[in-house]
Amino acid sequence: MYDIAIIGGGPAGVSAAINAKILNQSYIWLASRPTSKKVERAELIKNYPGLPNVTGEQLAWAFLHHAESMGIEMTNAVVTGVYETGGKFTLLAGDRDFDAKTVILCLGVEASKPLEGEEEFLGRGISYCATCDGMLYRGKNIAVVCTDKRFEHEIEYLCSIAGTCCVFPLYRGCEIKPQNAKIILKAPVKFEGDTRVKRVVLKDGALDVDGVFILKPAISPATLVHGLRVEEGHIAADRKCATNIPGIFAAGDCTGRPYQYVKAAGEGNVAVHSAVEYIANLK
Ligand SMILES: Cc1cc2nc3c(=O)[nH]c(=O)nc-3n(C[C@H](O)[C@H](O)[C@H](O)COP(=O)(O)OP(=O)(O)OC[C@H]3O[C@@H](n4cnc5c(N)ncnc54)[C@H](O)[C@@H]3O)c2cc1C
Repeated sequence: MYDIAIIGGGPAGVSAAINAKILNQSYIWLASRPTSKKVERAELIKNYPGLPNVTGEQLAWAFLHHAESMGIEMTNAVVTGVYETGGKFTLLAGDRDFDAKTVILCLGVEASKPLEGEEEFLGRGISYCATCDGMLYRGKNIAVVCTDKRFEHEIEYLCSIAGTCCVFPLYRGCEIKPQNAKIILKAPVKFEGDTRVKRVVLKDGALDVDGVFILKPAISPATLVHGLRVEEGHIAADRKCATNIPGIFAAGDCTGRPYQYVKAAGEGNVAVHSAVEYIANLK
């Protein structure tokens, strides 16, 4: 079991990983991509102390290089659930799970809200995890909503199991090949059903399905961690980055404005110190 599990590869997550290493904690650092898009995409950054006029790409490289130079490894995975069991937290990521005494959420803020029905039917026919739940749909009719080309191998895996697979690529240049895949270049509007999801509703019609997979790099905090207090779209956290769940801390954009690199990195540091204090009090 790890002392600390860190989720997220932006400035908050990098800072948390660096400080966990410096404080000699055992940790696992999970992130859906090696660096944050929000860092890579910045044209010119003027407010990062010590690095005037740095580009986003340069800063992203500096973050990665800093971590690598300290022997810090990131595990590339999307965490789809955090569950509290017997005094520890279990994190699910694809077909793997990780146990930790504390969790630091460095999730950033989601650009898009969950679709209507997404959270209602999650676990009742809607899944975020191809490898965890794909086998349940052998020979069945499924829909796959995918927001990022990087997950195309997961679409292909689902197609290899399902009977028919309606794929909604919400990105340009979908290149999947399976014969049973039907690519639909429209965005789903909502999901409907009764005890389980039954339909994907489009602007101009609906599609009957046995199951739906939603493949995206980030999941809303309240869906990720059951019982987590979220206020106006942000995780409620105090000055020690503590959330309403003892042992779970949050840092960066996910705790609220201002959305800034320095604030995110600062909170990543604070969250690790708070996690260490929490672990010391467990003993
Ligand atoms: C174009 C642009 C320019 C900007 N310019 C500036 C600037 O000049 N100065 C400034 O201070 N700020 C700037 N910002 C804001 C800055 O990018 C953010 O404040 C900062 O990146 C927040 O860091 P973070 O670590 O909280 O989150 P993020 O950088 O958003 O990182 C979160 C990471 O966690 C990952 N993640 C989320 N959920 C999961 C999960 N379930 N499992 C695994 N991984 C997950 C995400 O994929 C993401 O990589 C800019 C933002 C943009 C978009």
